[in-house]
Amino acid sequence: MNVTIFGSGYVGLVTGTCLAEMGNDVVCVDVDQRKIEMLERGEIPIYEPGLESMVHENTAAGRLRFTTDIADGVAHGLFQFIAVGTPPDEDGSADLQYVLAVARSVGEHMDDYKVIIDKSTVPVGTADRVREAVSETLTRRGAELEFDVVSNPEFLKEGAAIDDFMKPDRVIVGTDNPRTTELLRALYAPFNRNHDRLIAMDIRSAELTKYAANAMLATKISFMNELSNLADRLGADIEAVRNGIGSDPRIGYSFIYPGAGYGGSCFPKDVKALERTARDVGYEAELLSAVEAVNDRQKSVLFNKLHAHFGGALAGRTIALWGLAFKPNTDDMREAPARVLMESLWQAGARVRAFDPEAMEETHRIYGERDDLALVEGPEAALEGADALVVITEWHPFRSPDFALVKERLKQPVVFDGRNIYDPAYMAGQGFTYYAIGRPPVG
Ligand code: NAD
Repeated sequence: MNVTIFGSGYVGLVTGTCLAEMGNDVVCVDVDQRKIEMLERGEIPIYEPGLESMVHENTAAGRLRFTTDIADGVAHGLFQFIAVGTPPDEDGSADLQYVLAVARSVGEHMDDYKVIIDKSTVPVGTADRVREAVSETLTRRGAELEFDVVSNPEFLKEGAAIDDFMKPDRVIVGTDNPRTTELLRALYAPFNRNHDRLIAMDIRSAELTKYAANAMLATKISFMNELSNLADRLGADIEAVRNGIGSDPRIGYSFIYPGAGYGGSCFPKDVKALERTARDVGYEAELLSAVEAVNDRQKSVLFNKLHAHFGGALAGRTIALWGLAFKPNTDDMREAPARVLMESLWQAGARVRAFDPEAMEETHRIYGERDDLALVEGPEAALEGADALVVITEWHPFRSPDFALVKERLKQPVVFDGRNIYDPAYMAGQGFTYYAIGRPPVG
């Protein structure tokens, strides 16, 4: 089948590549010339495990190509995916300018029936706005052409995006007629072989399903972080509590890890956008406001622990930072807790020596050259002359380091673990002063 994807970012590029992998003929369109030139040279603008080789194989096989030519893109696909960004507007609502720009482009250039698919995360009612934008453009052209609009939100996780797309837990398809449901069923059939994972519903429910999923996941994190702060004050160990509650199948062990706060491009903006949607219809979503407030506060917990340990005297100190990305296996720094921590440390007059396996370039792009930030070659180099080590992203190589070496390199054997990946008793045994999240400090 012929497929066009607008937006070649995390979602668009993965969607296009996975659809090409199944034998479809895919054109990826982006307005970012630099990105398209990179992709045409075989360079992948983002870090996503497994993506590079799949892009190369499918471009070589002639099933995947990249262009900035919008007319070419619209002419190509029966399916026109919208996978552009929906960043938060100033009031927290999702900014739909890129989504609507694509809708107008499709209206401008289409000359036969198209299925326009919202894959971007968009507020309830956006499909109607997309339909209006296409209709208005067609009317202006004096063209009378049929098209359908579908909501097909994406649930992939950065860092595991290929796997998530190839073996989805579910494919949500929101349509207003059986014809488009069947077309989408056919397109997704190769990903739906093991058992039927396609869940068809009305468009508004599909749009809301994506926000409901992200808001629920963010709620789980904020709930555990709230409890971890209580545990801190009560002398309890949140990891024992986590183990204790997860055993109840109604609760389960998934996604109940306390930490340094959630980041990334999705949870923060989607919780805000849903809160905003609620307000627009006269409803105060109090739980969502609390989820967000708890998360904002959580991003300062590590800094507060550092501040307390050093008795407020952070000026002139050097802090080693392991991890920068908002989670492992990505280079994405959007809303990363590491940013809040670094900015607080700088404000307090401290210097940061940081290492991340993938997010160094992105960090450099954001902060540029500065005296109080050294982006170093490896985890050991970050420790050189540092007063303490902070682990903020739980990349695999940080999980079992050579602690004797860590101790030797640090000026003082102090470790702040923002992801509870080390064992407090072991750390004490190794001679560290060790702070974690929601666990009594040791050493
Ligand atoms: P991104 O910023 O990585 O990519 C968006 C791309 O769209 C950019 O390359 C941009 O240049 C391009 N673009 C903007 N306007 C365009 C236009 N008119 N025509 C063609 N291209 C255009 O964004 P992303 O992370 O891939 O997210 C895209 C959407 O998917 C968002 O709504 C997001 O909430 C949602 N989503 C993201 C994830 C994730 O993990 N990143 C997961 C699920 C859903």
